[in-house]
Amino acid sequence: MLPRAMVAALLATTLTAHAALAQDPMLTEIDRRAAALADKVTAWRHDIHQHPELSGQEVRTSKLVADHLKSLGLEVRTEVGGHGVVGVLRGGKPGPVVGLRADMDALPVAEQVNVPFKSTVRTVYNGVETGVMHACGHDMHTAMLMGTAELLAGMKAQFSGTVVFLFQPSEEAPPGGAGPMIAAGALDNPKVEAVFGIHVGTGLLGNVSTRSGSTSAASDQFSIVVHGKQTHGARPWAGVDPIVVGAQIVMASQTIVSRQIDITSGPAVLTFGAFQGGLRENIIPDSVWMIGTIRTYDEAVRTAIHEKLKRTAQDIAHSAGATVEVVITRGYDVSMNDDLLAQRMSPVLQRVAGKEKFALTKPGAAGEDFGKFAAKATNGGLFVNLSVTPAAVDLKTAASNHSPLFVGDDSALPIGVRMMSNMAVEYLRSGRMTP
Ligand SMILES: [Zn+2]
Ligand SMILES: [Zn+2]
Repeated sequence: MLPRAMVAALLATTLTAHAALAQDPMLTEIDRRAAALADKVTAWRHDIHQHPELSGQEVRTSKLVADHLKSLGLEVRTEVGGHGVVGVLRGGKPGPVVGLRADMDALPVAEQVNVPFKSTVRTVYNGVETGVMHACGHDMHTAMLMGTAELLAGMKAQFSGTVVFLFQPSEEAPPGGAGPMIAAGALDNPKVEAVFGIHVGTGLLGNVSTRSGSTSAASDQFSIVVHGKQTHGARPWAGVDPIVVGAQIVMASQTIVSRQIDITSGPAVLTFGAFQGGLRENIIPDSVWMIGTIRTYDEAVRTAIHEKLKRTAQDIAHSAGATVEVVITRGYDVSMNDDLLAQRMSPVLQRVAGKEKFALTKPGAAGEDFGKFAAKATNGGLFVNLSVTPAAVDLKTAASNHSPLFVGDDSALPIGVRMMSNMAVEYLRSGRMTP
């Protein structure tokens, strides 16, 4: 997080830089090209929205993307860490390497929005029949990045450096598709220095926001199994009661965040979501099972909670003569925005959005694996929010992402194309250096 004085300085710089950028011919050309591409991007968005694919099943979408990138003359790699697609666009001269990322997967949600391109796709998910819908707006992300690729391919003689397009599968299924793409070399050859991503969401149409530091929570799952010794409910001394041990673990764990964590490093939540054991009032069972979630914004806090939860469970179980298995599964990492990239791109984003429609914001609570790309890129990354609720919808009652009523307005698509193109071109001009 930036100190207050630094934020003030950042904003002052932003305003000065904003005036200079308004006259920039290359940026003006981006605006013109984005407007000309708007119908095409909208058609892709409608097509992808009508043909949503669940995490790990993005066969049609990734083919659409790969075919388009090939038609633009990019170097294209397919099936990168699953159905990931990587496209490399080289500018007129060598220079910095910037990555642009979009996610392609949809959710097991039955669409209730009455748009002409409504999804009617059905599937069976976890044994239940349901619809499939782009309820998180990844249809918009994919279409905007396809448009950005076409826009920048048309201007490649004008910039020095390389743009790497990263179309990611499986964002909605933790631990996510970014890790396998990175493991498959998505950020190597050429080595990506900085990566930018956009997420659409509910809010005043065209509002753009970003921040320095953490942008979304790390989300980990845990499971604790307490093994006691089964006995008659009337003779507890003949066994080891795992229900009492489990209850002590639940209560003792409440002091991990409140008493043992440096909360100045970032907020944290530890929640037990299920506690199961036993069948009858007069039988002490052999074991109990508990599961829960841990949300953090700081890697040190995250690691500390993992260690302390294990220690608490083990030492309490030991004190009662029980044994315990604690399994913590790491989900999404914290997505961290690079301070310098936030500073550097703020005037660019402010120019795209308009002065009144750009803001520095608080971190979001949702999980997101964009942070894996940002952590791997040598100069970090920047994740930017774009609000897409249609103007006719009342913001007080507008549905959020993952709702069957989530709706994004097509008029936001050219804004996303301009955001991506502008950030890429700005980065290529001088790498990570401050303005
Ligand atoms: Zn989502
Ligand atoms: Zn999403």
